[in-house]
Amino acid sequence: MNISEIVSRARVAHIEWAANPIARSNALAAIASTFIAEKERIIEAMVTEVHKPITEARGECARAIAILQYFSSAVLDPDGTSFPTQAPHLILSMRRPYGVAGLITPWNFPIAIPIWKAAPALAAGNAVLIKPSEFANNSAILMAELMQKSLPENIFTVLPGGPETGSALVEEADVISFTGSVRVGKSVVARAAQLGKPVQAEMGGHNPAIVLPDADLNLLASSIQIGAFSYSGQKCTATRRIIIVGNDERKKDVVDSLKAATEKLVVGDPRDEKTFIGPLIHAASYQNYVDAITNAQRSGTILAGGTVTTDGSHLPSATLTDGLASDHPLMCNEVFAPIAHIAHVGSTKEAISLANSVSFGLTASIHTADLEAALRISRLLETGMVKINAPTAGVDFHAPFGGDKDSSYGMREQGKAALDFYTHTKTVTFNAGQSKFK
Ligand code: NAD
Repeated sequence: MNISEIVSRARVAHIEWAANPIARSNALAAIASTFIAEKERIIEAMVTEVHKPITEARGECARAIAILQYFSSAVLDPDGTSFPTQAPHLILSMRRPYGVAGLITPWNFPIAIPIWKAAPALAAGNAVLIKPSEFANNSAILMAELMQKSLPENIFTVLPGGPETGSALVEEADVISFTGSVRVGKSVVARAAQLGKPVQAEMGGHNPAIVLPDADLNLLASSIQIGAFSYSGQKCTATRRIIIVGNDERKKDVVDSLKAATEKLVVGDPRDEKTFIGPLIHAASYQNYVDAITNAQRSGTILAGGTVTTDGSHLPSATLTDGLASDHPLMCNEVFAPIAHIAHVGSTKEAISLANSVSFGLTASIHTADLEAALRISRLLETGMVKINAPTAGVDFHAPFGGDKDSSYGMREQGKAALDFYTHTKTVTFNAGQSKFK
């Protein structure tokens, strides 16, 4: 069956699905229960396929379950408003599904990202077609097997394939949600816009952590360990730049603390409970890491990590660099690996300017005990999200998620924002007619 036929069947199936919110709520709750019962298989699929360290894979599975439970309940939230008009007439606006949601997803969260798109799309009454990453097909096929147990036929379909399958989905679906690289995301947005379809794209990041002179160094160290290095830095929200504000003495204290915390991280087999840094996704990605290390050695200093292996394991080391010029390509472009670059400035003004100097604007963190500075700087950063004394990575599924500039396009994901994206507003005006009964 070609994609056009699959979409046509899904569009027909969505009509009955959209008509029964109680059934949708129950189905999403049932899927959450299936995920709980089958969590070991889900975790194993992620560890095997995308080398996610087992402790993180467990967290991702728990996140997917929480999202399903949240949207099972959100199905029954109010979906419209009434507007004042002359009595007894009535004007209502209501949110309606588009029909078929076409979702294009990356490999780095092979379960959580498909679920955080599919759950609100389904909750809103759409049918869903997912084109997963070529590097995460098995996880997506398992997800479909588990979800289809509780869903009507043709409501949820996984379409394994490459870029051409993704392009075909953009042509055929009614609403498009993409997560992946800026290069592909911009092409998806351009084509969807040309076709007049609603589209959102979540893309890359080059996220700064701003460290003020009063930051607690232990809290900072754990935020950078998680923010910059968890899942080997293969997160759009990973900390890529650490901007230290203060004098040379303070810089030395911060660097010493971060260096010690970085060197502690265990590199190895993702099945080992102690592993923090596992292999990169594939050889091309490892080559990008190797090139970045070579480049950093040439233009600056490696403070921690920087180890390169030639044994085919694709194991990187958590790496901190220093001394790169602010316009060096490594300070501006995303390398999907555990590398963070330290920069040193004298004032919060300079820190904000450096943080905002890249084309990305996904997330940022500010490390300080000063409430005024945290609030002031968070307003001035050109990012969609700001974390105070917390890692840049890690998101709350019920709060809006997304970035500014090249990091994102269109409406936010997650929570109520996602229900808005997968629906359009219909205004219905009732004329009450003649009064017959006095
Ligand atoms: P990618 O852009 O290579 O692929 C993403 C998806 O797009 C895959 O399913 C791929 O097959 C598909 N695709 C490729 N070409 C296409 C085309 N021409 N038309 C339609 N679909 C096409 O990205 P990736 O390597 O899978 O993921 C890594 C990137 O994703 C990083 O840049 C990362 O920052 C970003 N990312 C962003 C977020 C976010 O929420 N902002 C989350 C995770 C990952």
